[in-house]
Amino acid sequence: MPIQWFPGHMHAARRKLEETLADVDVLIEVLDARIPAASRNPLLETLRRSRQRPCLKLLNKADLADPARTAEWIAAFEREEGVRALAVCAKNPADVRRILPACERLAPHRSEPTKPLRLMIAGIPNVGKSTLLNALLGRKAAKVGDEPAVTKSVQRYDLPGLRSITDTPGLMWPKIEFDADGYLLAACHAIGRNAVAEEEVAAFLAETLLAQGYADRLTARYRFDPTGMNGDEIVEAIGERRGCRRKGGELDREKAANVLLQDFREGKLGPLTLETPASRAAMIAAHEAA
Ligand code: GDP
Repeated sequence: MPIQWFPGHMHAARRKLEETLADVDVLIEVLDARIPAASRNPLLETLRRSRQRPCLKLLNKADLADPARTAEWIAAFEREEGVRALAVCAKNPADVRRILPACERLAPHRSEPTKPLRLMIAGIPNVGKSTLLNALLGRKAAKVGDEPAVTKSVQRYDLPGLRSITDTPGLMWPKIEFDADGYLLAACHAIGRNAVAEEEVAAFLAETLLAQGYADRLTARYRFDPTGMNGDEIVEAIGERRGCRRKGGELDREKAANVLLQDFREGKLGPLTLETPASRAAMIAAHEAA
């Protein structure tokens, strides 16, 4: 079942984003480092390019991602014109301190009394925007939660040293171009629990872990060799190992799916990344050939 969002207020969101970008010097695009391409919003990229705004891509939740793959993504992003990329953990103050200097380097003509540096932070839900914004401001300005949420207004905050940052809550729903992205977003919990069946997401996640060379992580945690199994079989094997049974003794697949998803979301399988620049290119090529 393909996962898609009802476009709803997309046109209004686009207009508002365009308007906001007009008065911004540097766009800070927050991504989930475990799915750096699937967590992009292509609309933001289109608007940024048409306005010729430089962009700092933050690969957030880098503490949960595979460091070698994060480095690959940073190199790939920085090949794009006007783009710098940084791996950060929003909860690590040393990482947060690197963000404003990186923005300044992208707009060296700003940060003067007559030309303050105007930033904008954007990204799809649950990538850690509010956590980052609060860390940058040094106070609680934005609500942090583990559930994707919608708030509508655009809000501007002053930062120390002639800088300001605009938040765009609720304007950046994921635009799901490929079915695989829907599953990756759901696995990372960027789209809500009700939108998709957890069992399908868990099976997709299991297959992706195998395809990305992480069989050893499954073996280490659940004590079986998943080589050659499909996603459903892996989830079943996890259920067997963890004693996920219904009252009559039959396997509880939903519970088994939740074991895998929760372990992945909490980083219990170790730091890992579900797509690389090469696997992304292969997925798009296969999609176009179909
Ligand atoms: P927003 O919807 O983009 O504003 O995301 P939030 O700031 O509300 O964060 C969503 C969830 O991700 C919260 O549970 C945060 O605690 C968590 N989170 C944010 N940044 C990080 C990070 O760098 N590492 C980890 N492990 N969790 C993070």
